[in-house]
Amino acid sequence: MNMTRRSFLKAASLLSLSPAGCMAMAEPAPGEWVNDVHSQLNRTRVNRIVPVDSLDALRRTIKNAQQERRAISIAGGRHAMGGQQFAADSILVDTTKLDRILNFDPKAGTVEVESGIQWPKLIADLGEHSSPEARSWGIGQKQTGADRLSIGGALGANIHGRGLRMKPFVADIGSFVVLDAEGNAHTCDRQQNTECFRLAVGGYGLFGAIYSVKLRLAPRQKVRRVVEIKTIDELLPSFERRIADGFLYGDFQYDIDEKSEDFLRRGVFSCYQPVAPDTPEPSEHKKLTSENWANLLYLAHADRSRVFDEYSRYYVSTSGQVYWSDTHQLSNYTDGYHLALDQRLDRKPGTEMITEIYVPREKLIDFIAEARNDLRRTNVEVIYGTIRLIQKDDETFLAWAKQSYACVIFNLHVEHTQAGVDHSAATFRRLIDMAIRRGGSYYLTYHRHASREQVLACYPQFPEFLRLKQKYDPEERFQSDWYRHYRDMFLNG
Ligand SMILES: Cc1cc2nc3c(=O)[nH]c(=O)nc-3n(C[C@H](O)[C@H](O)[C@H](O)COP(=O)(O)OP(=O)(O)OC[C@H]3O[C@@H](n4cnc5c(N)ncnc54)[C@H](O)[C@@H]3O)c2cc1C
Repeated sequence: MNMTRRSFLKAASLLSLSPAGCMAMAEPAPGEWVNDVHSQLNRTRVNRIVPVDSLDALRRTIKNAQQERRAISIAGGRHAMGGQQFAADSILVDTTKLDRILNFDPKAGTVEVESGIQWPKLIADLGEHSSPEARSWGIGQKQTGADRLSIGGALGANIHGRGLRMKPFVADIGSFVVLDAEGNAHTCDRQQNTECFRLAVGGYGLFGAIYSVKLRLAPRQKVRRVVEIKTIDELLPSFERRIADGFLYGDFQYDIDEKSEDFLRRGVFSCYQPVAPDTPEPSEHKKLTSENWANLLYLAHADRSRVFDEYSRYYVSTSGQVYWSDTHQLSNYTDGYHLALDQRLDRKPGTEMITEIYVPREKLIDFIAEARNDLRRTNVEVIYGTIRLIQKDDETFLAWAKQSYACVIFNLHVEHTQAGVDHSAATFRRLIDMAIRRGGSYYLTYHRHASREQVLACYPQFPEFLRLKQKYDPEERFQSDWYRHYRDMFLNG
């Protein structure tokens, strides 16, 4: 019998709810099952989910947890893939209803928002807050590839977008209000509670529940997309030329066909250049429908030799289109898209997992050469990937952008079997080793497969980060399975 992914997950969930692994007549255990959106590999049973919709509700939840002596985990869009937003048996605070704009200051170009607001609503609400003339502010950067992600989650991971000269998200944060383990509110910025500011941004929810964030906005302007096909050897000088010409955003989407000579070496290089405000914006952009996307995703799994040709032809045909600097960053992502894909592919259930590898820019070509050989030799299915530039972060404690690196992103298919998960974990570790050998690093957001040695090589401050967490939160009210994993690795080992 061919099991669909939905029935597989349902059966798996029933089995693990039943202590003896027997489905018949067992009383369901208390709690609720949750999982991350993209990889679906972080299935966790929390004690209960508490949706919060105000500062008071957030404070009450912390007080209740304190009385119950129970840990709290905090989730926004639930897209992290290393278990940062869930902790087994914890009270899971769901922030999706904390989604209001609290204050918009068009003079200063700042907006204060509740932490659960997600990008599409923030962008839309900003538009409503300003008169057409004053509509000169937009977001600077957001993640690419998905939109239903919260500002709290962006702060927790210290995210980045495809800005050509942008520092990670910390640079877009003016201040935030955090509730500590007793439910007391503190404002953190670069003048007050600075240590907490440095720790909480990129600190994955371990230093308190963020209620609100004051964001620094960027001028909202029209930009023109310019698309060319480039090879990896041309990439860095091409990025430099675009930067010198004033382009603001850009990336390189590489060929994923492991059988082709062009694998990881040739790609769609698209950058965005500001244009005059009166440049006409077409009423209809050429764009891919959800069906087109589903088809490309299918090809990325079933026929990788065709997908790059089709995608690059489409992308090149959009060269010259004019967009707004904020909305052009929105993407097309269907939650749970892999269910339909698994049925169409008629293969074992799976999803994708992402990893981001950072290498000094002068080592990029060399890294790509080794990664190409390795991924081919080990039959890894790369479903999508890009190369971007990142600027050094000199503010956060757990900074991942330790230098102005080149960033290589791999979105890999993972079969949901033990062998499949082990295969991708080993791949991620090999890619991290390739980065370490070149003075590079990796992003902590996407998985927790790195070895102790790898974590220490890339984040030597990690044990200190955990000690400071325990100083700020001695009862460990704010927890996650990600935190427990590293506490065991570094403090209890
Ligand atoms: C398809 C996809 C594409 C992505 N693209 C990018 C990208 O281009 N660039 C990039 O940098 N990242 C990217 N990511 C990673 C993503 O940005 C991070 O995982 C981000 O944290 C997810 O936000 P979220 O709202 O889903 O947060 P969650 O997954 O819900 O939470 C993430 C972390 O933030 C904490 N948190 C959330 N809200 C609060 C709060 N109110 N108070 C305290 N802590 C809180 C959580 O406890 C957790 O530790 C991508 C992920 C996916 C799945």
